Amino acid sequence: MTTSIAIIGAGLGGLLLARVLHVHGIPATVYEADTSSAARSQGGMLDIHKATGQAALRTADLTREFEQRICWGADCTRVLDKHGAVLVEKAANDGGGRPEVQRGALRRMLLESLPPHAVRWGHKLATAAPLGAGRHALHFTNGQQVEVDLLVGADGAWSKVRPLLTTAQPVYSGMSYVETFVRNCDAQHPLLAKAVGQGMLIAPDEGKAIMAHREPGAVLHAYIAITQSADWFAALDFASAEAKQQVAKAFEDWAPELVGLITDAEHPLIHRPIFELPRHTRWAANPGVTLVGDAAHLMAPSGDGANLALLDGAQLGQAIARHPENLAAGLQAYEAEMFERNEAARTEAEAMLKVLFGPGAARAMQGFFSQGSQA
Ligand SMILES: Cc1cc2nc3c(=O)[nH]c(=O)nc-3n(C[C@H](O)[C@H](O)[C@H](O)COP(=O)(O)OP(=O)(O)OC[C@H]3O[C@@H](n4cnc5c(N)ncnc54)[C@H](O)[C@@H]3O)c2cc1C
Repeated sequence: MTTSIAIIGAGLGGLLLARVLHVHGIPATVYEADTSSAARSQGGMLDIHKATGQAALRTADLTREFEQRICWGADCTRVLDKHGAVLVEKAANDGGGRPEVQRGALRRMLLESLPPHAVRWGHKLATAAPLGAGRHALHFTNGQQVEVDLLVGADGAWSKVRPLLTTAQPVYSGMSYVETFVRNCDAQHPLLAKAVGQGMLIAPDEGKAIMAHREPGAVLHAYIAITQSADWFAALDFASAEAKQQVAKAFEDWAPELVGLITDAEHPLIHRPIFELPRHTRWAANPGVTLVGDAAHLMAPSGDGANLALLDGAQLGQAIARHPENLAAGLQAYEAEMFERNEAARTEAEAMLKVLFGPGAARAMQGFFSQGSQA
């Protein structure tokens, strides 16, 4: 009898898992809430790390396809202080550890690597009920139902699968990002374009930062990080024209070529509150259900989350393929390694975020780069 495998969520983690299973000749169905691959913009640039994201893509036999999508030259970095002084100017290191790719291009590549109809769009999981012996009944908000032998939650921060394994819930981190886009930057916003450069800009100060990437098509895509309570952000009306000025107020004494990434942005700004799962979130093995990516180990953005989701997908796929007659053993092997890896990654990420948002942040980031921590 063929094992029926349902993956909830067509993000990077779920799709990479489906791809690795496909490479091993194991069928799986991905159920995605979005109504199509184009339903939502997929966010900006991701640097794909050698030991995690690139290793996962190799396992999925997609290295060549990935290399065709790299934005060559986009992995250079500038660190500016809040007055606009350049503290770090790191050249692109093409072929090095962290090439940049657009998240949308990476997701499309994964979708194209799967058999037709592997993804069922417009299937938002509502509930999953255990049936015994590891099987689950899945109910989708579109009225569809299905029973499966193995259920994988790849459904991100607000996973509907996670509660089958743990009571852990995401908690607001105390910081939000405000996402902005400045288009046609060379012609209309040359000072901003110059400040960002050809790759990534980081301008940090204690508890806040302006971070941006130049993207193909003369687009500056920024994340404005601000440490404030959820109530502070709730009082802002992001749909209103005043939101830009209200957000910019947090950067009153900053250089205009940095604040312009807020005030010259297209309307409306997008609020991205940052949530995290409690540290040490783990669960007892369950023979028919597991999690990958943010569903398993949501943490504040540190440049690792998407990479770790890809690696989870690759390793779970391999573990299932290695234990065709004993899924429970496959899940246990995957989870043991995943828990360890992500705990270590979180420790490293927290240390990096302390530098980025701690006292004397700009100088501390300068030190971080001069020690080659980004190599
Ligand atoms: C502002 C910001 C910036 C970031 N920058 C970076 C970065 O530069 N580098 C990096 O490596 N990481 C970054 N991350 C982290 C990264 O985005 C995540 O860790 C990564 O996307 C997790 O992938 P995933 O596949 O687990 O989940 P997701 O990408 O969240 O995908 C989950 C999928 O599940 C679907 N879904 C959700 N609920 C359901 C449901 N009930 N039924 C069916 N489908 C469902 C969603 O529609 C989505 O398609 C950033 C995060 C944020 C918030």
